[in-house]
Amino acid sequence: MRAVSADPDSQPNSSPPATGGSAPSGPPPVRHDARFDESRIDPDALRVVRRLVAAGFEAYLVGGAVRDLLLGRRAKDFDIATSARPEDVKRVFRHNCRIIGRRFRLAHVFFSWGGKTYEVATFRRNPVGVTETDAEADSDLLIRNDNVFGDAHEDATRRDFTINGLLYDHDRQQILDWTNGVDDIHRRAIRTIGDPDVRFREDPVRILRAIKFAARLDFGIDPDVYDAMVAHREELDRAARPRVFEEILRLLRGGAARRSIHLAWDTGMLAVVLPELSAFLDDAATDDTSGSRVFRALAAIDRITHERGAPPDDSVLLAALLREPIREWTLGARTRDEWRAALDHKVAEFGERIAITRRIAEGLARLYAAEARLRAGRTGGFLSTPLGPLAIDLAIITAVADGAPTREITRLRAIQLPSAPEPRQPQGHPAPAHVHRRTRDRVPRF
Ligand code: ATP
Ligand code: MG
Repeated sequence: MRAVSADPDSQPNSSPPATGGSAPSGPPPVRHDARFDESRIDPDALRVVRRLVAAGFEAYLVGGAVRDLLLGRRAKDFDIATSARPEDVKRVFRHNCRIIGRRFRLAHVFFSWGGKTYEVATFRRNPVGVTETDAEADSDLLIRNDNVFGDAHEDATRRDFTINGLLYDHDRQQILDWTNGVDDIHRRAIRTIGDPDVRFREDPVRILRAIKFAARLDFGIDPDVYDAMVAHREELDRAARPRVFEEILRLLRGGAARRSIHLAWDTGMLAVVLPELSAFLDDAATDDTSGSRVFRALAAIDRITHERGAPPDDSVLLAALLREPIREWTLGARTRDEWRAALDHKVAEFGERIAITRRIAEGLARLYAAEARLRAGRTGGFLSTPLGPLAIDLAIITAVADGAPTREITRLRAIQLPSAPEPRQPQGHPAPAHVHRRTRDRVPRF
């Protein structure tokens, strides 16, 4: 495990728990003074926390945002965990709040000026209450109902990885650490909270999440965790397909698509979730050219993501990921109809393991066709539709993947759109509200 290069700005501190509205429930956590600059936190997220605390509830920033702040990375979204029940949150924020979800109810808080939505979740606990003996006796641990309220300590420890189990107490500007997460951020280590065998069996999607964090943060995976991932990879088959699809998109969106898919392939996860792609890469490993086209496409995605501060559209990501096996499959088609039938067949096959959304599945044929036109030096009416910018992105990615001459890539990058049908995501800011809705409302929670 490599030593942490950027100091995560925080130091242990054994001060007693705070009193008043923000006193944490459960056993006392280790407290670390947070040394990051508070101006890096979204002011509206802090506003939500302050209003809940002022109303007498506990409220903290949690999860990925705290981890990213400690790592000096830009946090994507700021989630809030609270002792307030959804109805309480609604009472505090009234018209600025909507309760969503039937099974697990969450509050979405929004302000008219920002267009952003903040997810406010009541503390929950792990519903299984697994013991070592249960784990050893091969009982079914898959979580099917996670709708059990808990306290701050339970909410921290029900989370997946130690680095994701940290809470930020804005009142005291301290990190509350029940999981040893700050230490693991220093060590740059992916560790599950609790026994990895149990945690992966409870929710196999965590296996993909471990890959995502290791690749994106360039962290090492603890050996026990790695072994458990490999041992339980087949269980990914039992996970809800929309969740698996969403995690695959997240592997592609985070700026480390190349590393993520390589790690997923190397550890055998890809063979479970995208067997056709995995087999393609296995075969290609000997001749190298087509396999490396896949990885060059992924590197091109990462480059766009870094340059723009936001990834290409999901449909572009998927089209780029699946292009090679789809191309191989559709090669023999002699007419457009044959090509279309072959494509639909392959997409349906991919859809057996990952629930590709209808929007994306239906758009793939148009996207590939438009990309082919652009690569051939032609344009078309599609450029003034929402398809235009997506096709340009895909054409740039495939040109890089194919090792096209620089002048072709420059030409594609210079294509002007007749009008801007859909603004690209703004830089340096959380995704706009419609993106939150797309990824959050439709995907079942763990
Ligand atoms: P990202 O930057 O990709 O959004 P994240 O850590 O914020 O990463 P989310 O999927 O947004 O991940 O989830 C928010 C938090 O919820 C996580 O940090 C983690 O604490 C918890 N969490 C998410 N998925 C799981 C899971 N499958 N099991 C347990 N805890 C989870
Ligand atoms: Mg997140």
